[in-house]
Amino acid sequence: MNKETLSELHRIFQEVQSKPDWKSALDTLFVSLRGSFVFDNVAVYLSDRQTRGLDIVYARAMGRGKTAEADAAWGENAANDVIFNEHMVIHGPAKGSDRKDRMSQTYLLGIPLYIGSKLRGALLFVRFGGPEYSETHIHVASLQAIWAAALLERKELQEARAELDSVQRQMRLQDDFVSTISHELRTPLGFIKGYSTSLLRQDTTWDDATQREFLIIIDEEADRLTKLIEDMLESARLQSKTIQFKFSPIRLDALVRDVTARVRTHHPALEVDLKLSAVSPVLGDGVRLSQVLENLYSNAIKYAPGSKIKISLAEKNKKVRVSFIDEGEGIPEEFIPFLFERFYRVPGERTVTGTGLGLYICKQIVMAHHGNIWVESVLDRGTAFFIELPVSPTL
Ligand code: ADP
Repeated sequence: MNKETLSELHRIFQEVQSKPDWKSALDTLFVSLRGSFVFDNVAVYLSDRQTRGLDIVYARAMGRGKTAEADAAWGENAANDVIFNEHMVIHGPAKGSDRKDRMSQTYLLGIPLYIGSKLRGALLFVRFGGPEYSETHIHVASLQAIWAAALLERKELQEARAELDSVQRQMRLQDDFVSTISHELRTPLGFIKGYSTSLLRQDTTWDDATQREFLIIIDEEADRLTKLIEDMLESARLQSKTIQFKFSPIRLDALVRDVTARVRTHHPALEVDLKLSAVSPVLGDGVRLSQVLENLYSNAIKYAPGSKIKISLAEKNKKVRVSFIDEGEGIPEEFIPFLFERFYRVPGERTVTGTGLGLYICKQIVMAHHGNIWVESVLDRGTAFFIELPVSPTL
């Protein structure tokens, strides 16, 4: 190998390695070696570890037949051949094919892909109308196969790593949840028990005002317990997808007004600014969508106490967007990606009670509506939740 070839290989190696993702790394690998090895299309077939079927994980058209890029089925038989026989295959055009029609003159080269020493797939090249593959071409193609396999292995490792991280995070959340939930269950129970025992004491008499005060506490704590249990059941049902949604065209302006009126009966001092422009109805389950808004209200009251709340509606591209904005303390940026996860609560000293289920429930409901929910927050300025729902199709 001469010096120029070596330095060229070195340059290509560095360029491939520098790509942020495996697809652009494969692009660079195939494009940059085209000087030594010309082909029209390339595709990577991998056997699925679960189904054992063949998946096309990468396909690219370079020369003739560019439009064939999406349809990489051209190499499937040859890929199966490679995997079944565990060796390279070279197929010329079928006998009797029309020599004048270059596209029907397919020259296929298939090379086995070994990932982690196991045969996992095939790298397929096609040339329309030839020429046949020379020994040098086969060497370059084999080098690309080894290289592609290494990139695919890295991809699979990254995916496995991400999955592991997510499972670990979920396990940590479950652990935290057990301690949160036992605290959350014990606190209201403690109040209920304490105040009812006091009321029942025979050695003391309480005046009417005190008795009433105790009963209000018991009543409120019983409500808190009910809500907690409902949230737990609801999140379990949403997770197992056993909830039946009842969809009908819903006017969100009316729904927002109703929920706001309900919330205000419990929080008369709450300042709410509604900007409910006329928007098309969405196809939704009114009860569930009210639940989403109630959760957002309850969070704003808990985490942005005393703040004004602004709710507005807007319609764009056949979607209605609800903006729910408070002027509270905001949420640090690093916690934002996890807010909608089950059991997730922003870490730190916390006097506010909660289980980390509210936003998870909101997200599951919105997703069941084929919608989207996300949050933007600026520290010391406030938090904005956005919900986007598709407009109801006209009958
Ligand atoms: P919970 O309120 O039970 O903790 P949620 O899923 O409703 O659970 O909320 C998750 C976390 O998001 C909360 O623990 C809180 O830290 C944060 N959060 C939610 N809404 C707001 C808000 N409006 N302002 C600041 N933080 C919020």
